[in-house]
Amino acid sequence: MVSRYPEYLDPAKWRRNLALQIEGLDFRVWPDVGKNEDILLVLADFAPPGLFRSLRNLRCICKLGAGMDALFEDPDLPEIVPIVRLQDPTIASQVVEYIVLYVLSRHRHLEIYRRQQLERTWHPIPTRVTSEVIISLLGMGRIGAKAAEIFQRLGFAVKGWSRTAKKIAGVECLFGEGTLTDVIGDADYVICALPLTPETRGICDRRFFEAMKPGAWFINVGRGGHVNEVDLQTALESRQLAGATLDVFSTEPLPKNHPLWAHPKVTITPHVANFWLDGGIDEVAQLYRRLLAGCSPQNVVDKSLGY
Ligand code: NDP
Repeated sequence: MVSRYPEYLDPAKWRRNLALQIEGLDFRVWPDVGKNEDILLVLADFAPPGLFRSLRNLRCICKLGAGMDALFEDPDLPEIVPIVRLQDPTIASQVVEYIVLYVLSRHRHLEIYRRQQLERTWHPIPTRVTSEVIISLLGMGRIGAKAAEIFQRLGFAVKGWSRTAKKIAGVECLFGEGTLTDVIGDADYVICALPLTPETRGICDRRFFEAMKPGAWFINVGRGGHVNEVDLQTALESRQLAGATLDVFSTEPLPKNHPLWAHPKVTITPHVANFWLDGGIDEVAQLYRRLLAGCSPQNVVDKSLGY
């Protein structure tokens, strides 16, 4: 197992639970990988430079967590070794919980009422009917499509944006670069749930924020690399945006002196939209058994797409 996030992944738990399913398992935790040629399968949430290339008998890399970007950043990633993405639905469900939580909190003025309570003041604020509120989801994969369905059921007007065409009942689905402005131009909430790829890096920049409806709210659960943080601050200060909820940042942990920390219109969480990576243990056991049986792995990522 290769991990740089001890808060999220407990190697001892993985070793214990995998050993219950795989007799004689030899489970090693990076950087103590032992003899490189012994390693058949790597479970990784990132790619230590040059490590994968050095594993001569490596048959598969299994990405822990949803985003593939942390692996594709490695210029030495072996071409022929398949990369598997876990199918555990809990990761997407948790991120959807996060998105719904922050949209509904703002929609129902929770933060304002909390302040009112502390000040012992009583100022009812009208709540807009959901059908008049437009929510746009960038990325209509496991996270975006699920969030879109939930918002649609709550009665919001929902738009979704993806690379290829989608059809979801009650959701206006658009796809391709040329439609981005149509997706974000009239939305009250724009939610980035995209994977970080060469096409999507820096997508939320000055032009993007200028194309958003004045007074809209921006939520990023994708990756920090999607957002030009200086352009975001400019959009917040010019009042183009009412505010932003950010779970991911270009540098994590967010440096102590970063101006976003103190920005009154920004809500920051420390990359916790999903906090569940242990759900993949059974899937990994199955994958390992397939490899031992000489079968090809399932759920292999298309490296040419980068997600
Ligand atoms: P999926 O791979 O299931 O979906 C990705 C979506 O993005 C697809 O709809 C895809 O389109 C779309 N997409 C990709 N490239 C483009 C593009 N160039 N233009 C328009 N749309 C594009 O990913 P998930 O939903 O599981 O996760 C998305 C991202 O969320 C992850 O990559 C990760 O970065 C982030 N994440 C963050 C977490 C957190 O804790 N903050 C936790 C989990 C994930 P198409 O459907 O046509 O292929």
